[in-house]
Amino acid sequence: MKKTEQIYEGKAKKVFATDDPALVLVDYKDDATAYNGLKKGVIAGKGAVNNRVTNHLMQVLEASGIPTHFVRELSDRETLVRRVSIVPLEVIVRNIAAGSLAKRLGLPEGTRMGKTVLEFCYKNDELGDPMVNEYHIAAMGWATEEELALISRYSLTINDVLTAYLKEVNVELIDFKLEFGKTADGTIVLADEISPDTCRFWDSVTHEKLDKDRFRRDLGGVEDAYNEIMKRLLGV
Ligand code: 5GP
Repeated sequence: MKKTEQIYEGKAKKVFATDDPALVLVDYKDDATAYNGLKKGVIAGKGAVNNRVTNHLMQVLEASGIPTHFVRELSDRETLVRRVSIVPLEVIVRNIAAGSLAKRLGLPEGTRMGKTVLEFCYKNDELGDPMVNEYHIAAMGWATEEELALISRYSLTINDVLTAYLKEVNVELIDFKLEFGKTADGTIVLADEISPDTCRFWDSVTHEKLDKDRFRRDLGGVEDAYNEIMKRLLGV
């Protein structure tokens, strides 16, 4: 497998083509952005943490029957994944009210809710990733009803698996964002990342935030929080 030209650069990752048309290489950066790019910074070592944490959790999920894009970790920051076309949706799973939901509904952060909440946002930076529902998604053709049903089922299973897994290392999974992709043969697989950039992780005992909210809200100890998550999950 040989890395060839860069095909995409996002806020946190670069993607390169390879000599295998079915595979691409993801290279995680230390760059951090928040509030739709308004806040910019660097979190030293973040790329390596997010790469390794994502790959670890993707393998846990694969073992629980969730198809993912993960193929092979190549280095601290680089991973080989299946080439997919990204379904233009952010799927947000919420166990405890926090962030934009807490704000929207006027709930104190940390409020327990009667059941898990699933939200969909249209992936579009210019529009600020607006929230949409199943009618918008079908009307715009972003996913078929069958695909959306599968994506929803996978998302709730992922929540069950990760919640139980993280509990073992004293981390409470508050909420997280998922993205799915479609392979050339139409298979829906989990794509993108699962990391402190895309999840809210709170220490189960102290409720200390161990995720990107430390950067978003200028709480300090950002690198330490990312390293703590890697240590609890990978022991390094
Ligand atoms: P909220 O809607 O409360 O801002 O975010 C809910 C959850 O989804 C949080 O765990 C947050 O990290 C994740 N999330 C939502 N949108 C994005 C996004 O555009 N980028 C990243 N990195 N995470 C997001």
